[in-house]
Parts: sequence; structure tokens; C-alpha cells
Amino acid sequence: MPLQPLPETGQETGIDLGIESFATLADGTIIHNPRCYRRAERRLKTAQRRVSRRKKGSNRRRKAVRLLAKAHQTVKRQRADFQHKTALQLIRVHDVIYFEDLQTANLVKNHHLAKSISDAGWGQFLSILSFKAACAGRRVVAVPPAYTSQICSGCGVMVHKGLSVRWHTCPECGTSLHRDHNAAKNIERAGQALQGGVALAAS
Ligand SMILES: [Zn+2]
Repeated sequence: MPLQPLPETGQETGIDLGIESFATLADGTIIHNPRCYRRAERRLKTAQRRVSRRKKGSNRRRKAVRLLAKAHQTVKRQRADFQHKTALQLIRVHDVIYFEDLQTANLVKNHHLAKSISDAGWGQFLSILSFKAACAGRRVVAVPPAYTSQICSGCGVMVHKGLSVRWHTCPECGTSLHRDHNAAKNIERAGQALQGGVALAAS
């Protein structure tokens, strides 16, 4: 039983977790990465460099190590704070949220992308989202990945494009939208087609 059920909204969405932006929803809403991330990450790099320059065993190095640990904590706290706020907002306005099960996606086989995925903290975000959803009686449903970025959300044909191609333009039906928006629409549709998919929030 949900602890704090929210009133039904009749709304569902697909969420595409991105690299450029944090996420895109099926209705085209873009959730940007907060600006404070970059600032905090710059500070973290500076702190790291400082540690490596200081002589081992010196007091100056010990102090630099302390500062580095603090910078790490700041990044972690900011990320968690952003993820909690984002998850709460999402479950307030949607009864069901579909996401692509990236664990099995080809995406993680790609080294660079795998790093971006772990940097973006998607795994942590999805567990926060699932937990909040369960408390509120919402559903967060994993959809197996199936060409969500290649298929045209307008007509269903395959429109092959490399990762650098950020815009989806369909030669068949003329659908034209950001590739992440196109993917989010496909994720929502795939989730709805997948009757009773693996509901992570059901526990
Ligand atoms: Zn099309």
C-alpha cells in the first residue's frame, strides 16, 4: 500500500535520459542539468590537481586532501538534491512513467557513453524515482530498449542516425523534432504497448 498516495492525474509519460540535457519527456519538456554542476565539477578538478602537486606526507597535502573530500561531498549533495526534486516533480504530474531499461541497452557497451551514464547518475535517479513513486502509488515502468532513437515516432519507420545527429527528421512523414524528444515518445508508446510491463514501483 502506498504511504502517501497522490490523486490520479490520468497522465503518463516516457522519459529519455540524456547526455546533453538531463532528460526529455514525451511531451517535449526538457529537464536541464543544473548549472551548479559544472561550477562544482570545476572546483573538484582544481582540488584534485592541488593534491597531486603537493608533496606526499606534507601538511599542505593533508589540507588539500581535506578540501578535495569536501568538494566531492558538495558535488554528491547537489546531485542528490536535484534528483530528489526532479523525481518529486515527475511523480506529481504523472500516474505512470516509462523509462528505457539501459542496463541491457547497447549503449552501455560503448565506453564513452558508459562513462557519461555513470556521471549523470541515472541509476541513482531511477532508484529515487521508483522509491518516491512507490510511496505515492505511482508506477515507474522499465521498457526494453528497441531502437527508440532510430524509429520515427510519427510513422514508425527506421530513420538511421549516428549519435552526433541530434535532430530527427523523417523522410517518410516529415516528422521533425529533437532526437531525445522522439525517443521519449517512442519509450512512452512502447511502455503502453507492453501491457503490464515490469513495474519497478510495485513492491
Ligand atoms: Zn515518420
